[in-house]
Amino acid sequence: MVLTSAGAVPVYTGRTMDPITRRDFAEITVGGAAAVSLGAQQPASTKKMFGIQVGAVSFVDEGVEPVLDNLERLGGVNTLFIATFTYGRGIAGRQIPGQPLPDHGKQEYDTGYHGGNYTRIHPQYYKDTVLKDFRAPDHGDFDVLESVIPAARKRGMRVICWYEDVFRNDIPNIEKLQERDLHGNRATTLCFNNPDYRGFLLGLSEDYVRSYDVDGVMWGSERQGALANSLSASHDGTFDPSRATCFCEFCQRRAKEHGISVDRAKQGFLELEKFVRAARGKERPVDGYYVAVWRLLLKFPELLAWENMWHDSLRDTYRAIYDRVKSAKSSAGVGWHIWHNNSFNPIYRAEQDLQVIAPYSDFLKIVIYHNCGGERLANYVKSVGQTMFGDVPAQELLDFHYRVMDYGAEGSITQIPKTGLSADYVYRETKRARAGLAGTKTLLWPGIDIDIPTAATSSKSTPEGTAAAVDAAFRGGADGVLLSRKYSEMKLANLRGAGDAIRRRSA
Ligand SMILES: [Zn+2]
Repeated sequence: MVLTSAGAVPVYTGRTMDPITRRDFAEITVGGAAAVSLGAQQPASTKKMFGIQVGAVSFVDEGVEPVLDNLERLGGVNTLFIATFTYGRGIAGRQIPGQPLPDHGKQEYDTGYHGGNYTRIHPQYYKDTVLKDFRAPDHGDFDVLESVIPAARKRGMRVICWYEDVFRNDIPNIEKLQERDLHGNRATTLCFNNPDYRGFLLGLSEDYVRSYDVDGVMWGSERQGALANSLSASHDGTFDPSRATCFCEFCQRRAKEHGISVDRAKQGFLELEKFVRAARGKERPVDGYYVAVWRLLLKFPELLAWENMWHDSLRDTYRAIYDRVKSAKSSAGVGWHIWHNNSFNPIYRAEQDLQVIAPYSDFLKIVIYHNCGGERLANYVKSVGQTMFGDVPAQELLDFHYRVMDYGAEGSITQIPKTGLSADYVYRETKRARAGLAGTKTLLWPGIDIDIPTAATSSKSTPEGTAAAVDAAFRGGADGVLLSRKYSEMKLANLRGAGDAIRRRSA
């Protein structure tokens, strides 16, 4: 089954997978309200999905039952998204150093955070990868799924494994999976076209659903292709265009198979690297920054082809995980965390065609973080304002993005870091995603911001703001909400704020 062509002109052939394969997972009740059945042996529940992301450290620090008490009693939570694998600190570990500790959990920061897999590794699932030694050492022999699932089941809570595409450099054999940049150097990121990475992700997914009584898996990748990265088109800070990926042997082979010239692509990215360096040095091209980018795209359509190929590779990964999980346990739900850059960067949004990914998505967590969204959007504007939009003043550039992304009356470029984005942003983004999923059975579970770290001078979550965001998601047509990023950084008052809005929905 080919969903896309990685050639210079992408061709979307649309849906080719029978959505009935998700019948066990999601059922729609009369009256249009979505009901979610995540368990094979359980009857379909009429409850909406009220989820929260939570990492192993919280259960270790606070105890399994006290954590579940708080999630259930304060947050109205009925589904746990347990961070089972990551080397990052966004979804695992305690509060990030430098940010105020919340009013629960051990009142100290992690010492020597490491990350990895927070469950036991069952070696039979990792025959197709050289990555075999990735158990998180942070909590000794603690297996978060083994410890939490029985307690969650007693409360009627569902459990979904939540893992992401974040690694570190010192994992044994990791160098064999890493991407190669434009100049042939190893990146810290892994390549989706590398068979060892594919084998690892499929093995990990199968391990979870075969070794544990879980209701599903959610995986996420917060990355993009070489073109968008070179233009620094994200909220993640200034990207070094010499580190654009991926040009490894597997990607080069894939390009050749799709008729994309590797040499031309490299030439184009080298030219783009020069442009970005000059732009950051305020060396205005004769015809301006925006025209210069278009001239490069016209001269080297391989720039777009390479970008699209990266996303095709990500989509292939989604589909492969979906198929592997379904063949291991057909009732397990499979879905994806869609990066916040989807709210800021029109190129990235264009790459998230929900109709294309729906056939292999039981659910989507679309990140719609309102509070940190203001700071992040301002950062994105600042970042592209130093490359392709070098001629456009920041406020005009922000207004342009409000228009093309269809946002309403949000604040000025100086205000939004201090105010965050509004509940109306959550409503519009949910509604847009709902419309984007029209005709599909994919469930929509917006990611809601509770205390995601922002700069000291930037806006902070409040109970009222959090409740308004949850309300807005449901008004926009959500089938559930996913409180993010991790319980260990959330203040209980804000969790209760979300819970108040959830209880109004579930009453
Ligand atoms: Zn590669």
